[in-house]
Amino acid sequence: MSDDMECPPLPPTRVRHRGHKIDMKGRVSALCFSRPRAIDLQRATWVMRDDGVTCPKCRALIEARNKTPNAEVTGKPDVGTELPPPAGGLSG
Ligand SMILES: [Zn+2]
Repeated sequence: MSDDMECPPLPPTRVRHRGHKIDMKGRVSALCFSRPRAIDLQRATWVMRDDGVTCPKCRALIEARNKTPNAEVTGKPDVGTELPPPAGGLSG
C-alpha cells in the first residue's frame, strides 16, 4: 500500500484583477476594464488587496494611483474662496 499520492494538478493560473466595481448581481468588474463589465471567472479572478494583484494592467493603475499625491477630495472648499452674497432683490 502506498500513500505516495501525487499532487493534484494545479488549476491553471488565472490572472488576478483588482476588484473595482460590483453590480447588483454581485458581479465584479476589474480596475483595468475601461468600462465596467463582469470578470470572466473561468479565466480570471479578482482580489481586493492590491498586493495580491497579478494583472499587469491593474498593477500599473494601482501604482499610478498610489503615486498621485493628495488625489482624494476632502470635501471642503478652499478657505478664502467665499462668494459674495447675491446682490439685492429683497428690498421693498
Ligand atoms: Zn486587470
